[in-house]
Amino acid sequence: MTTPVTIIGAGLGGLTLARVLHVHGIPATVYEAEPSPTARAQGGMLDIHDHGGQPALRAAGLIDEFRGLVLEGRQATRVLDRDGTVLLDEPDDGTGGRPEVQRGELRRMLLDSLPAGTVRWGHKVGGVRALGDSRHEVTFADGTTVVTNLLVGADGAWSRVRPLLSEAEPQYIGRSFVETCLYDGDTRHPASARAVGGGSLFALAPGKGIQAHRESGGTLHTYVALSKPQDWFAGIDFSDSAAATARIAREFDGWAPELTALITDSDTAPVLRPLHALPIEHRWDRAPGATLLGDAAHLSAPNGEGANLAMYDGAELGQTLAAHPGDVEAALTEYEQALFPRSAEAAAEGTRLHEFLFGDGAPHSLVDMFTGHGQPR
Ligand SMILES: Cc1cc2nc3c(=O)[nH]c(=O)nc-3n(C[C@H](O)[C@H](O)[C@H](O)COP(=O)(O)OP(=O)(O)OC[C@H]3O[C@@H](n4cnc5c(N)ncnc54)[C@H](O)[C@@H]3O)c2cc1C
Repeated sequence: MTTPVTIIGAGLGGLTLARVLHVHGIPATVYEAEPSPTARAQGGMLDIHDHGGQPALRAAGLIDEFRGLVLEGRQATRVLDRDGTVLLDEPDDGTGGRPEVQRGELRRMLLDSLPAGTVRWGHKVGGVRALGDSRHEVTFADGTTVVTNLLVGADGAWSRVRPLLSEAEPQYIGRSFVETCLYDGDTRHPASARAVGGGSLFALAPGKGIQAHRESGGTLHTYVALSKPQDWFAGIDFSDSAAATARIAREFDGWAPELTALITDSDTAPVLRPLHALPIEHRWDRAPGATLLGDAAHLSAPNGEGANLAMYDGAELGQTLAAHPGDVEAALTEYEQALFPRSAEAAAEGTRLHEFLFGDGAPHSLVDMFTGHGQPR
């Protein structure tokens, strides 16, 4: 007998799990806080790795549809010094194994692959409690409840399911991103568009950087990184876009104008994204009838792996449950035994990558990493 699965969170991880369960004929319901699929912009591009997101999409039976979403040529990479000197310029020769898609389109594809009614929108979870005998009660913000025999927390960084299993809380990593966006880069901002090139740009210095990405339609999407305490950002009024933009740009005084324009010419208000992480070795004792996946299980400093890992977790959990019909505990044990070392390794790699990106050796440390001489300087 298959136990219906209650999934909290319709991010890429929760949706991949729901889809893989569907492929195996296992019913699932996904409860999502957002009121509708279009309630929030879904952020920029994701590279979907041949060792992460791609096997998950294969397990979900969606790899061909995924290929139709890929934006060609976006795996090109450039590393620039603050004065605009090009230190590394790697074109996309099609062999990178990390094709790029718009996150919103990937999520849409997963949503469309599920039976109607699988996702219950506007269901923000307020809390969960164990009822014993593998059962859990989930309480929503409007006071309604559901009881489930198999609960999966796929509800991201600030998971409401995690406290059932672990006391760990995400901690600020000492760095934030500020997100900006320039539309029609090639026509309206040609110098910045040339600096970004066909794919990703990393313009770096110790403790800071301008990381930009060419998206569809020539949009230049930028994460401005600053290693500053949260108090420093609290002193900036982000509701005053012009003042906030000027304050962030001041940290890049003297940088090449085609780089600083990625901040100062933004068509959107700057959005602060403080970065948090769980402990690298985060794990928990087996709790009957409940588990976690994705950021809820292993939030780490953004390193291009998080969405891939969340999808991989979802596919692994779905396939493991399908392989153990009638024995949920065996499936959860097997899933978690593989999950913990996999996540710890990825989180440790993420920390190393941030050292290459923003450590004392930047930007040359990142060039060394790309050219295979990779130890942080
Ligand atoms: C600035 C930045 C850039 C990034 N860039 C990349 C990248 O280039 N490549 C990459 O692979 N990863 C990237 N990541 C990481 C990636 O976004 C995450 O690791 C990934 O989204 C995790 O997927 P998830 O499904 O676990 O969680 P999420 O995507 O966070 O989804 C969780 C879902 O749960 C819902 N939810 C939350 N709380 C509740 C609640 N109480 N009740 C009901 N629903 C709830 C949310 O609304 C959301 O839909 C980046 C992260 C950041 C912050």
